Amino acid sequence: IAIFSDITEKKLAEKQIRDLAYYDSLTGLANRRLLLDRLEQAFSTAKRKHTFGAVIFLDLDKFKILNDSLGHHIGDELLIQVADRIKNNIRQEDTACRLGGDEFVVLISNTAESLKQVANQATDVAEKIRIAINQPYQLAGSEQLFSTSIGVSLFPEETNNAQAILQQADTAMYLSKETGRNTINFFRPSMQ
Ligand code: GH3
Ligand code: MG
Repeated sequence: IAIFSDITEKKLAEKQIRDLAYYDSLTGLANRRLLLDRLEQAFSTAKRKHTFGAVIFLDLDKFKILNDSLGHHIGDELLIQVADRIKNNIRQEDTACRLGGDEFVVLISNTAESLKQVANQATDVAEKIRIAINQPYQLAGSEQLFSTSIGVSLFPEETNNAQAILQQADTAMYLSKETGRNTINFFRPSMQ
């Protein structure tokens, strides 16, 4: 005696649950949870193999003005376009994430052999993304310009864990906000 059942729907439901748990529903990028997971993994691999990685933290500049002037749904449209531009400027093995609001993070996976090498790599990627985000957007039938403030932190350094690395990149991003926006800063311990 055999029992057959169609598991297609069950599989589909499982995938939907997984997507909800690990991906941002607006942009399709990884969410905070998946990022922290990958960061934790990247961090321990880096320590074990003596390689280096980086976290690039972005927050759009003056994003609220768009929401207030053209509406939340146009704000959402910009977030989707920004997500696409970020994705188009990173390698497949790197992770692009939307942390929430207008905050995005890119995890540069840990293949670099020195801090200097990963710093150069992160500078290149961050600058490429900054310039990509500066290009005009078509929103609600007109052309709009935006920029992003960026902070970078490298790992592994002395006492880091995933949460701390993210916090450091956030701190460096704030310096970019304070010094006029549309710019990139690397985290230094003196910022704390
Ligand atoms: P700053 O240059 O200092 O970053 O200014 P800002 O206007 O970008 O302000 P901030 O980054 O502090 O705030 C982000 C805003 O994004 C706050 C909130 O109203 C809006 N927001 C958060 N989540 C969403 C969302 O899912 N969709 C849209 N359209 N807006 C969102
Ligand atoms: Mg912002």
